[in-house]
Amino acid sequence: MEAESIKQVAEGIRSFLKDNFDRYVRILSDLVAIPSVSAKGEHMDECARLVADLLAERGFKVKIARAGGHPAVLGELESGEKAILIYNHYDVQPPEPLEAWKHDPFKLTAEDGRLFGRGTADNKGNIVARLAAIDALKHVLGEVPLAVKFLVEGEEEIGSPTLPKLVEENREVLKADGGIWETGYVGRRGELRIYLGFKGMLYVELTVKGPSRDIHSGYAPIVPNPIWRLARLACTLKDPEGRVLIPGFYEGLTGLGYDVEALLKELPFDEEALKEELGLEEFVGGLTGLEALRQLHLMPSLNISGIYGGYTGRGGKTVIPSEAGMKIDIRLVPDQDPDEVLEALRAYLAEKGFGDVKLTVHSKYPAGFTKPDEEVVRASVRAAELVYGIKPALVPLSAGSGPMYLFTGVLGVPMTGAGVGYYGSRVHAPDENIREADFLKGMEHVALTLLMFSRGRGAKH
Ligand SMILES: [Zn+2]
Repeated sequence: MEAESIKQVAEGIRSFLKDNFDRYVRILSDLVAIPSVSAKGEHMDECARLVADLLAERGFKVKIARAGGHPAVLGELESGEKAILIYNHYDVQPPEPLEAWKHDPFKLTAEDGRLFGRGTADNKGNIVARLAAIDALKHVLGEVPLAVKFLVEGEEEIGSPTLPKLVEENREVLKADGGIWETGYVGRRGELRIYLGFKGMLYVELTVKGPSRDIHSGYAPIVPNPIWRLARLACTLKDPEGRVLIPGFYEGLTGLGYDVEALLKELPFDEEALKEELGLEEFVGGLTGLEALRQLHLMPSLNISGIYGGYTGRGGKTVIPSEAGMKIDIRLVPDQDPDEVLEALRAYLAEKGFGDVKLTVHSKYPAGFTKPDEEVVRASVRAAELVYGIKPALVPLSAGSGPMYLFTGVLGVPMTGAGVGYYGSRVHAPDENIREADFLKGMEHVALTLLMFSRGRGAKH
């Protein structure tokens, strides 16, 4: 396809989406109106049904699939030679605290160029943007130029517990040449942030036992307090500079197989603003600049998410508790096997004299990532340059975690992440919102990504 004609198609897509913008706001409003909070498990079938209907209306062959948890919607549209996989989720986080919202979280409300409501950014707005992209391509080209497969799950906000089984059971349907991840957002400089990978997760809880029951702290000289033991255990996990002390933790990390450094150097990072916002003098171990970015987007981490034990209420209570514990999230990078890290942690605890501490695994999965020279990424980057008028920022690995490995690893589908949210979207919090302008651009971006990908405009040189 000639450059001139891509431009023409892009203009056609833009004017179609502009003219039909209200229609997509209405669809988003219908989706937001269903409180599909996966943690509560209510209204899940209703929301899955609506997503299935929206896909069926567009000619998709639709199936509602279950792998033991909330239903997922699979949609398949055959066309062209290539196939793209689109991953989204229709479930949302609980809206509480309700009194902190300016508007009803389940009633889409437009105000000052923004659309407020639970799920607008995470992730219902993205579902709608992708449906709109399909409509726009059909309208301008007369057909969707490639096969499109949708996987819209209902358990993302509770850790996707049955997604591995669901993917395994639907391998054939989900086969594709490239894929679009559920989310992404616009940064402060107006750049689209495209996520190429997510760290894995090993979430464990450690419980230390003390006396068989809580006891008066007058016994402190002779009765061991589990909080002291827990505190000593915590100190063995990391040194004061923030280095994880579990043997082998950093061994065998070979990177991502391309020049990640080059990407990191281009990543906008307002470190002074971040420090000021958080009231910090400095980051862990005095990290700055590129080294801080390297730690965020390339290296594994270990964090204590919470610690409990004893009396922490108002006033005083002198007691030795019978139990103390902490929750630890370990974020894994490629080359780290979650089972091996878990075994290394167990062995290390035993070596340090904590072999009897109870260890419960709450979550465990590896990292997943895509290289920036994959065709689908290049298509997405070119589309972003056209739509946003500025180079997108490519994030090699999100500092957070997500089950991207199921797509990039298990299915072998390279994934690129982009979305309709922005830095002020307040995801998971009260007043979740998107900007109308980003919503429109997000639709356009998906349409152009699909177009470029189908025409080989993302091909490697
Ligand atoms: Zn979320």
